[in-house]
Amino acid sequence: MKAVVITGHGGNEVVEVRSCERPVRQPGEVLVRMTAATLNQVDLYMRNSGAGITHQLPQIMGLDGAGTVEEVDADERVLAVGQRVLIHPAVTCGRCEFCQRGDNVLCTQIQLLGEHRHGTFAQWVSVPARNVFAMPAGLSFVQAAALGVNHITAWRMLVTKAQIKPWETALIFGVGGGVSLAAMQLAKAMGVRVIVTSRDDHKLERALALGADHTINSQTHDVSKAVMALTDGRGVDVVIENVGQAVWSAAMKSLVRGGRLVTCGATSGDQPPADLRRIFIRQLQILGSTHGNFAEFHDMLAFVAQHRIQPVIDHEYPMDQVHAALDRLASQQQFGKVGLNLTCVSE
Ligand code: ZN
Repeated sequence: MKAVVITGHGGNEVVEVRSCERPVRQPGEVLVRMTAATLNQVDLYMRNSGAGITHQLPQIMGLDGAGTVEEVDADERVLAVGQRVLIHPAVTCGRCEFCQRGDNVLCTQIQLLGEHRHGTFAQWVSVPARNVFAMPAGLSFVQAAALGVNHITAWRMLVTKAQIKPWETALIFGVGGGVSLAAMQLAKAMGVRVIVTSRDDHKLERALALGADHTINSQTHDVSKAVMALTDGRGVDVVIENVGQAVWSAAMKSLVRGGRLVTCGATSGDQPPADLRRIFIRQLQILGSTHGNFAEFHDMLAFVAQHRIQPVIDHEYPMDQVHAALDRLASQQQFGKVGLNLTCVSE
């Protein structure tokens, strides 16, 4: 089969579309014929260095993906051959204390596809059956694939961590990013009032068209002052952010007393001033979050189906144009997910 592999670390020169052994399905696994995947920031990280993530080269890239079931155990009762499915990218042990209490995203043995083991940018993928979920109706394969990292991450941040309520207001930084855009879509469908930021007016216009209540250009405006103006001096209940250091101070100053900040990334730096006095006097909560567990994945998919949420796809590239797709992601010009069509190469 054809797959996109990293052969080393560096730029696109270490990313190759090459012939690989088709995976042999093990008992308890599902073999999926892949149709589409999307790119995530971590794909660039794995290409560039992969530092701190145990992996072996060459490794197939890609975390999320969707396709059709090709082969299952004879006694499989949930999934059927030919069914349209998407993949939860965290393969976990099922036995550690975190798995036992149902939060497998904290598993001590966690292996993420495309990080610790072969990923989804391939024509076939074989994963444990519990990692395979039915696609919500009404979505294309690439849209379903897009749910597998960004929407589940945003869901855990909003629902499990922030425990956001429909009457609350959320501030979401960097709406051009995949998790931020997913958070905006989910929060709006929950009835939350949403303020988004970006340095790009064009992206803010797109966000407004998709339902954002208010936008702030973070390049030309002081975000916390703009938030106070929009909330009659009160501040927001919840901040969703993955930018880190560059926005930390504005994020903290934008929170109402007792507000919650949920972070899932630190692209601009991970050592912002703690501002402890503000945290205890105003009784703020700082919550870390990464991806989401199987139960959250199930709930997120049901929510997406019920509210007919359509993940935004910026552009879908054929597998053999993966370099262009990676460049598009790195350019930060995209709005929505950069997709990869995995069907349009010969085996
Ligand atoms: Zn475990």
